Amino acid sequence: MFESIENLGMIEASAREFAQKHILPKVMEWDEAQHFPVDVMKELGKLGFLGVLVPHEYGGSGLGYQEYITILTEIGKVCGSIGLSVAAHNSLCTGHIMAFGNEVQKSKYLPLLASGEFIGAWGLTEANTGSDAMRMKCVAIKDGDHYVLNGSKNWITHGKSGDVAVVLARTGELLDSRGITAFIVERGTPGFRAGKKENKLGMRASETAEIIFEDCRVHESQVLGQVGDGFIQAMKVLDGGRISIAALSLGIAKGAYEASVKYAKEREQFGQPIANFQAISFKLADMATRIQAAELLTRQAADLKNNGKKVTEAGAMAKYYASEVCVYASNEAVQIFGGYGYTKDFPVEKYYRDSKLCTIGEGTSEIQKLVISRSILKEQ
Ligand SMILES: Cc1cc2nc3c(=O)[nH]c(=O)nc-3n(C[C@H](O)[C@H](O)[C@H](O)COP(=O)(O)OP(=O)(O)OC[C@H]3O[C@@H](n4cnc5c(N)ncnc54)[C@H](O)[C@@H]3O)c2cc1C
Repeated sequence: MFESIENLGMIEASAREFAQKHILPKVMEWDEAQHFPVDVMKELGKLGFLGVLVPHEYGGSGLGYQEYITILTEIGKVCGSIGLSVAAHNSLCTGHIMAFGNEVQKSKYLPLLASGEFIGAWGLTEANTGSDAMRMKCVAIKDGDHYVLNGSKNWITHGKSGDVAVVLARTGELLDSRGITAFIVERGTPGFRAGKKENKLGMRASETAEIIFEDCRVHESQVLGQVGDGFIQAMKVLDGGRISIAALSLGIAKGAYEASVKYAKEREQFGQPIANFQAISFKLADMATRIQAAELLTRQAADLKNNGKKVTEAGAMAKYYASEVCVYASNEAVQIFGGYGYTKDFPVEKYYRDSKLCTIGEGTSEIQKLVISRSILKEQ
């Protein structure tokens, strides 16, 4: 079912080594300062981690989803924020251009994104339209051979530092699924600027900001695919993106679990390691079992994706389950650490804060259940 274990092992080791050496020492500093380390993203680009799924001919690593999951999990174990940024860059901006760009667009942007020369952003969400993205207000009006964009997008990963963004805007009627178009917009295009940067609970080193369009003229050659196909494209991009959030969730959950096992063996109360208390060891057993189940769901979705199968249901199941396990495991980890878990001296406090994003970004758990239930009921 899975790709070569040997190859996965090498990739896992390389991602782990990078994370331990270049991310771990600065994790809390970036978190405190809400600093998005662009230089680290550039280094990740040099290693091929920003173009994991991009074919070699476009300067990417040409790997599959199993390797992609492995990389995100290893980075997520050390820092959820960097994991989130790597996931958004690969799956959303790069993934959208890779899946729906024409030859000119792919040849121009994929090498820049895969190498890390360009950081990618992807704008679907608006202030008043999150889960209900189809009601978006951002418009693109045709004017000669250009489209004029007006409106704003919120919660955009790399909204300030991104060099290029894929932006979804309305070109047709409200609620018409064929009324939305995807555009590639480069930073520096007149009328395109970043707005407020969010001050977040967790994932603080992953930049999240508003992007604003004021009479921003975008040439029609920057349209991705056909005019009116944007919403359908976005849903397909999210199908793959959700597998990446599942992988990120797994990374955070595994990080919290591994720290908990170590701590439970070391911390003594009542003259013995707390791991000896069934109340603690059963927590570890539950964490391990749920993490394993989440990994199987995620790897299964990745396998379907690698084989070109539809992953709407499998991706939603993986994302839903893995993200809830991530929150569960991080919560239990803080409990196992007791008072120390509530401080910034131990890593579980940050896992706990970072974990919550996983049940929200790229579709909340409630929306995943909508997707899954619709799929199940359609089958009957
Ligand atoms: C750190 C971070 C990074 C992000 N990055 C990006 C990005 O790069 N690009 C991008 O486009 N977006 C991004 N987002 C936005 C994210 O995808 C949205 O926050 C998410 O889709 C939820 O939308 P919302 O926040 O508007 O919540 P809402 O849609 O307002 O939901 C509020 C609550 O209502 C529930 N709800 C809504 N509709 C239903 C329904 N029909 N049935 C049951 N329950 C429902 C939700 O599950 C939730 O619990 C990011 C968000 C965060 C926090």
